[in-house]
Amino acid sequence: LIGRDVLLDGRTNKGTAFSIEERQALHIHGLLPPSIATPELQVERFMENLRNMPDDLSRYISLVALQDRNETLFYRVLMQHTQETMPLVYTPTVGLACQKYGLIFAKPKGLFVSILDKGHIYDILLNWPENDVRAIVVTDGERILGLGDLGCNGMGIPVGKLSLYTALAGVAPEYCLPLTLDVGTNNETFLNDKYYLGLRQKRVTGKEYDDFVDEFMRAVTKRFGHQCLIQFEDFANHNAFRFLEKYRDQYCTFNDDIQGTASVAVAGILSSIRITKQKLRDNIFLFYGAGEASIGIADLLVLAMERGGLRAEEARKTIFLVDSKGLVVKNRPTGGLNEEKKRYAHERESITKLVDIVDAIKPTFLIGAAGQGPAFTRDILEKMASFSKHPVIFALSNPTSKAECTALEAYEATNGQCVFASGSPFPNVEYKGKTYVPGQGNNSYIFPGVGLAVVTCRIRHIPEELFYIAAKTLSELVTEEDLAVGLVYPSIEKIHDVSRSIAVKLAEYAYAHNLAALYPKPDNLDEFIKSNQYTAEYQDILPSRWNWPKK
Ligand code: NAP
Ligand code: MN
Repeated sequence: LIGRDVLLDGRTNKGTAFSIEERQALHIHGLLPPSIATPELQVERFMENLRNMPDDLSRYISLVALQDRNETLFYRVLMQHTQETMPLVYTPTVGLACQKYGLIFAKPKGLFVSILDKGHIYDILLNWPENDVRAIVVTDGERILGLGDLGCNGMGIPVGKLSLYTALAGVAPEYCLPLTLDVGTNNETFLNDKYYLGLRQKRVTGKEYDDFVDEFMRAVTKRFGHQCLIQFEDFANHNAFRFLEKYRDQYCTFNDDIQGTASVAVAGILSSIRITKQKLRDNIFLFYGAGEASIGIADLLVLAMERGGLRAEEARKTIFLVDSKGLVVKNRPTGGLNEEKKRYAHERESITKLVDIVDAIKPTFLIGAAGQGPAFTRDILEKMASFSKHPVIFALSNPTSKAECTALEAYEATNGQCVFASGSPFPNVEYKGKTYVPGQGNNSYIFPGVGLAVVTCRIRHIPEELFYIAAKTLSELVTEEDLAVGLVYPSIEKIHDVSRSIAVKLAEYAYAHNLAALYPKPDNLDEFIKSNQYTAEYQDILPSRWNWPKK
C-alpha cells in the first residue's frame, strides 16, 4: 500500500505514530499533523477521550471505530486496559450494542451469509480478503447472551468474541473471521424496525436450516482447510446440542456456550472448594436453569468427579437441575425431558418454586444460568448460608440485568461468608470493613486460550478432556491472595499469560494424543506459542534499504 490507502487500511495505519521517514516514503507526508506520537501517547489520548464519553454505548461505538481505523492501537488499548474495556467490547455493553445494531451501524465487520445465498456459501467465503483464516466464530443470532433472538444484529457477538481471541490470547487478528448465518428472525420488534439489517422474514427451520449449516461447514473446510476452528456461539438450545454432537468428531469445532461455560464454571468450582475446604464429591450442586450452560457445566463436573475416582452415576446424584417448570425429576407431571436433562432427573417429587427446591435439596453450590434476571432472593441466599459455612453462589447469566443476584446482595445476605462469582462483571464490594472481589466466571478465561492452542498447533479435534484440562489449569493459577479476597479466578490483568498457560497445557495433551497437526512438534511449546502471540506492536512497513559498496 502507498499513499492515502495506507491511512485508510486499519491494519497498516499507525495514525500520528508514523515516523517522518515512513511518511515520506509512503507518500503520506502532510496528510498527518506534524506532531509524531508514541504508541503510549496514542493509548493515553484514546483512553482520555473514552472516559469523557457520556455512556457505554458511545464508548462501544468509539472502540469499534478505532478497530476499523487503527487495529494495532485498538488491541493495544484492549491489552493495556483490559479490565476497563472488556465490559465494553464484550458483555454487558455488547448486548446493548446488538440490540441497537441497526441504528449504530456504520461499517460492516465480518461476513454475512444469508439463507438466500444457499448453494453459494463458498462463493461468499471467497470474498473474504484473508486466505489464512484459522478461527471462525459463527452465530445464527437466535439466543444472544440472555437477550433472546436478535437475528442478524447478533453479529456484535462473533466480532466481540474474536476481538478477545486477539486481546486476551494474542491470536493474530488476520486469522479470525466473525460470521453470521442469517436465517431470518422471530423477533417482531426487529421485523418491524426500519433500521433492522437482516432478512425481514421468520426463521427458516427444519431440514432447510440443517442443510444450510451443513453446507456452511463444508464450505469452510473447502475454503480454509479442515483445521479451521469453528466456534459455535449463541445458537438456541435445540440446535446447539444437536450440532455439537453432529460435528464434534468431524470438524475442528466446539460450542462455547456449552463447553466454554462448562470449563470456566468448573474452574470456579475447583477454586471454590479450596476456600470451603470440601471435597468435590461431598457437595450438592443446584443449577437454576437447565440449558446449554447448566448442562455443559454439569457434564464437565461429572467428568471432573470421575477423574477424582467417582463413577459417573454417583457423580450425577450430587447434581440437581431446575428448568422453567421446576425441579427436574423423573415422571414430572409436566413431562417432556430432553436427553440432556434426563441424565440428571432424580427420583423425587416435583417442586416448582426455587425457594422450596433450595429448602428440599439443601445445596452447597447454587449456580444460576437461566437468563431470567434476579431470582436468588435474600430469602434463598440466607437459606444457603444456613446449610453451609461458605455457600457458593454463582450468578452466571448475562448481561448484568439478567444476573440472578448482585455481588452485594450475595455478600450481604450471607454475612460475607459466601463465595461469589458472576458472568458479567460486578465492582468490588466493601462489606463490614472487608473488601470482596467478585470473580467474573466468564468464558473469556477459556475460549481465547483454546483458540490460541488450536491455531498455533493446528489441533484437529477438541475432545471434552481439553475443557477439563483448561478448567484445572485456570483454577491452579488462582493464588492464595486471590482466594483471600474471595476471588476464584486469576485477576483479569494476568489474562494474557493465563491464556497462554492454558494453550500450552492443551497443546501438550494434543501432541500426546495425536491431535495436533503441526509437525514437527516444537521443542518448547511455551516458547513456541509465545513467539506466535500477537503483541499489538506497529510493524515496520518500509522495505529494507541498503547501499551497494562503492568501488
Ligand atoms: P438456554 O440453553 O436457553 O437455557 C436456559 C435455561 O433456563 C433453560 O433450561 C430454561 O428452562 C431455563 N429457564 C427459563 N426460564 C426459567 C425460569 N423462570 N426458572 C427456571 N429456569 C428457567 O440458555 P443458556 O445458553 O444456558 O444461557 C442461559 C444464561 O446463561 C444466559 O443469560 C447466558 O448469557 C448465560 N451464560 C453465561 C455464561 C458465562 O460465561 N457466564 C456462559 C454461557 C451462558 P427450559 O429448559 O424449561 O426452557
Ligand atoms: Mn455465548
